[in-house]
Amino acid sequence: MEQYHTLFQDWLGQLVERVVRLEQYLLEREASAPSRVKAGPNVVSDVLSCLDNLAQLLLDKATFFLTENEQSVADHRSQYYASALIATDQYRRLHAFAAYIPSPWPSPELDMFLRTVLPRRNLNAPGDNSGRMAWTILLSGEYNFSHILATPPNEFTEHHRLHNLLSVPAAEKDNPLMWPNLLHELAHVIGETEGIIAAAQATLPGIAETRQTERILALWTPEIVADLIAADYVGIAYFGAFVTFATYWVPCSLWEPTTSHPSPSNRVDYLYNHLKGRPASFDTALDTLLTPYHARQRLDTEDYKARNELFDTIRDPTSPDRPYPSNDELTRYVRLIVALSEYRNITPDAIDEATAAHIKGLATQVKEGQLISSRRTDPCSIPFESPEDVRKDFSAAKQKLKELPNEFRDILNAALIRTLHPHSIVVGKKTTAVSFYGRLLSEYCDQSGHTMRKRLLDLRRTVNNLDSVISKSMEAALVMTFYQQHK
Ligand SMILES: [Zn+2]
Repeated sequence: MEQYHTLFQDWLGQLVERVVRLEQYLLEREASAPSRVKAGPNVVSDVLSCLDNLAQLLLDKATFFLTENEQSVADHRSQYYASALIATDQYRRLHAFAAYIPSPWPSPELDMFLRTVLPRRNLNAPGDNSGRMAWTILLSGEYNFSHILATPPNEFTEHHRLHNLLSVPAAEKDNPLMWPNLLHELAHVIGETEGIIAAAQATLPGIAETRQTERILALWTPEIVADLIAADYVGIAYFGAFVTFATYWVPCSLWEPTTSHPSPSNRVDYLYNHLKGRPASFDTALDTLLTPYHARQRLDTEDYKARNELFDTIRDPTSPDRPYPSNDELTRYVRLIVALSEYRNITPDAIDEATAAHIKGLATQVKEGQLISSRRTDPCSIPFESPEDVRKDFSAAKQKLKELPNEFRDILNAALIRTLHPHSIVVGKKTTAVSFYGRLLSEYCDQSGHTMRKRLLDLRRTVNNLDSVISKSMEAALVMTFYQQHK
């Protein structure tokens, strides 16, 4: 019962956080627009005022909510669920307006992330023979990650699709902890071009128990492969991004599969099993990430029961509930994909204990607001003679880094590990983790004499704080890696 309280609190926290991110993005756009654009009424100011109202509404709800006792929350959960869903929907609609605000380029850091985190697989645009990976990255108003790969233009057939266009939800461009979801989209292309999907599908007749299972597993293969590749590239950072998305942003039941996708709950299960023990010292973090997800699952169970009570009397109790593969069959299939040589050829080794220890060390640095580069203990100095020298070497370093194995994985995981340890952060520095908005809300709501506007400003400052710390850390870590390898 008590989990409902936490879940709703966190859910409202997630919503407030995203409203703040979207607002931040829009304010940035407004500030950088030419003065003539600012003159008349425009979509930016319209959306900003709607967001202001939504944010106040959410904070009101959160304030009320936090004063309720656990039992009352449990008794009225469907009411809270419905109002949280309405607010989510309102947010999604507002977010869609961001699509009309022109902003073709993401921040260089996100661009670097996408270009660095996967080794080149010779993924070219049709007609491009330069042998380089040519991604075009666009910011979009789309929130839902399932539409991230652009729809192919009509003149391309299914076999010649333009795969190299990635669109990134604008409001998430400064949120490194959500970036790992983009790896799933990149991994779709790798799964296809490396023949992993085809190889996995070819094994199906031997393992599927029925024709129906075989057919569905074949349709789900691209998604399973993309999930596994993303998880192997960045480890629990992908699990964290996906499980957060599933817990707070999947509007339908977590048990609802489609013909193209296994259910979110299936995906969480096989990802968890895949990452469990790799390494063992991260298992606690994996389990911590599951806590709000489990509360959401219980909520879905209640919801399912309530919806079916009416129909139970007329439903044939012997008819199978769903014609989908069982979790066991799915697990067996996932293991088989991971064992395929096509798969082993492209995925990196899992994070080992030494790297895990390194990540925990980095997390401490991030937690204290330090740049990661400052943890260098060896006396190696960088021979800069002049500002031009610095600039030249820095861009050379960045260029060169595109060829090197990434360290983003470690920084992302360090940031994630940091968010999973809120207590030490609160007693530590003021740079509080974004994912602890629920906690923040309680703190803000406890303070009397603060206006809603003031609270919102505080929240915005916190978002900026965390992002700039993580962002600077990423940049610094990349440069540091370069110099350590080339000194
Ligand atoms: Zn997908």
